[in-house]
Amino acid sequence: MEGRQVAEDGELSLSPSQNHRYLLEEIAPALRFTGGDVAAWQERLRPTLRELLGMPEPSRLRLRARTLWRNELERGTVEKLAFAAEPHADVVAYFCTPHDRPPPYPTVICLQGHSTGMHVSIARERDDESVPFAVEGDRDFALGAMRHGFAALCIEQRSFGYRREQAQAATSPHGCHDAAMQALMLGRTLVGERVFDVDRGIDYLTARGDVDLSRLGVMGNSGGGTATIYAAALLDRVRFAMPSCAFCTFADSIMSIYHCADNYVPGLLRWAEAADVLGLFAPKPVVVVAGRDDPIFPLLGVRTAFDDLRRIYTASGADEQCRLVIGDGGHRFYEEKAWQALLELIE
Ligand SMILES: [Zn+2]
Repeated sequence: MEGRQVAEDGELSLSPSQNHRYLLEEIAPALRFTGGDVAAWQERLRPTLRELLGMPEPSRLRLRARTLWRNELERGTVEKLAFAAEPHADVVAYFCTPHDRPPPYPTVICLQGHSTGMHVSIARERDDESVPFAVEGDRDFALGAMRHGFAALCIEQRSFGYRREQAQAATSPHGCHDAAMQALMLGRTLVGERVFDVDRGIDYLTARGDVDLSRLGVMGNSGGGTATIYAAALLDRVRFAMPSCAFCTFADSIMSIYHCADNYVPGLLRWAEAADVLGLFAPKPVVVVAGRDDPIFPLLGVRTAFDDLRRIYTASGADEQCRLVIGDGGHRFYEEKAWQALLELIE
């Protein structure tokens, strides 16, 4: 008895995704942008999104920022540092400043995706930063930032690099899985916690005094792009955003293709699609980066989401402030095209 299972009244739907696909087509997110006053719509969606992400409350914990070491790179100075995000959650980061530009520095917060960590941003080995590391796909974000006259704060995101799980005895082989699932049980999400760390990173940059806060942005690829999108949506102090290989309709990406747990926000599709989330950033400048052949954020879904995003920007009178940059390749960053578009918007 092999072959397809056919009941008397037709083919059986035995895959969970078939039911979810049906629900996805039926669902009408209640706070999708459908026209009208963008700011008033944002006022309704933003608190809902904040609630769904389960972000920690704004912290009054002292940052206790401290420098671990300082070193010279070809393009600038790199300082490794640590600060406290919340109780028992410390952030390590690199702050990189270009040699050829005086302070106050325009600055970009750089977020790596699923990788060995933030060390990729400075193209040095994680466990011995004196050793060069061969970076692929333009992921040396901090060097790219300095090449374009910007300082960079490279934050180690929770579950990656130095902040990978090392304390728990039995862990999932998928780096983010345990933290993402445990966060859900606590009414949080891992991406919400990462956005919170970005907010604390901005506290740190503000306290430094050598950063141009009017030109402070966030960028990242893949999982770093996802955190970039939510940070842009929720954090007032972010002035520009450059998410790469992460922006796509939920329907065409995380609802159709395997992604790990930190991409999912419980209940979000009852309220909004991806374009609405990033639409919370309008009218501030955003460069959406995509790969023509990215298999997990397909270009068709990227274009659909971007068209919706463009409608929100147009309605807010800022049609020119959102750009789509498409690189000729896969799931990676495209430094030259992306920075060129960004500088046209913010210089
Ligand atoms: Zn993950």
